[in-house]
Amino acid sequence: MLNLILFGPPGAGKGTQSEKILSQYGLKHISTGDLLRAERSAGTDLGNKANDFISKGELVPDAVVIGMVKNYMTENVDANGFIFDGFPRTIAQAEALDSMLQEFNTEISIVLGLEVEEDELVKRLLLRGETSGRADDQNEETIRNRFQEYLNKTLPIQNYYSEKNKYNGVVGIGDIDEIFSQLCSHLDKF
Ligand code: AMP
Repeated sequence: MLNLILFGPPGAGKGTQSEKILSQYGLKHISTGDLLRAERSAGTDLGNKANDFISKGELVPDAVVIGMVKNYMTENVDANGFIFDGFPRTIAQAEALDSMLQEFNTEISIVLGLEVEEDELVKRLLLRGETSGRADDQNEETIRNRFQEYLNKTLPIQNYYSEKNKYNGVVGIGDIDEIFSQLCSHLDKF
């Protein structure tokens, strides 16, 4: 199995690059943001509770997202591997992911981090907000809050995987296909 974490701050291009990687490597895509938005659209309890956090740019509690990922993986036991996009976002989530993968007799193969600075991210997200229909992309304060959450809670994960020799950073600014080929050069080693 090839299990990839596509890591990086909001707006770094994780969704765009995930789409390209999926079609090339035949992996299953797990985007916790997409799963949460689907719950919200379906009007489930989980979706309604998550919406309070999403609209403020805060992280949804760990137990909620970990449960969703576990369900998704259990429903896709035959997959060749997974791309984790927007998950894990806390050390607790990273530890939970390690144990889940262990239950499936597998592990994280590699973590690829798209590295983009804050002002560029804010610009990109506000632009995306004009067409994405996502309220959390339309308000600069919410965007900056998402970035703060990233710095405080998510960035420590980079170290977590560096210590396991699994983290590789890639410059996330420039031509989309060029960035994709940088990612492929890492993935082709597996
Ligand atoms: P995204 O689509 O990945 O930008 O996520 C949008 C929002 O969903 C985030 O700002 C969080 O509120 C929530 N979210 C998505 N993934 C996670 C996660 N792994 N842990 C906690 N909250 C999450």
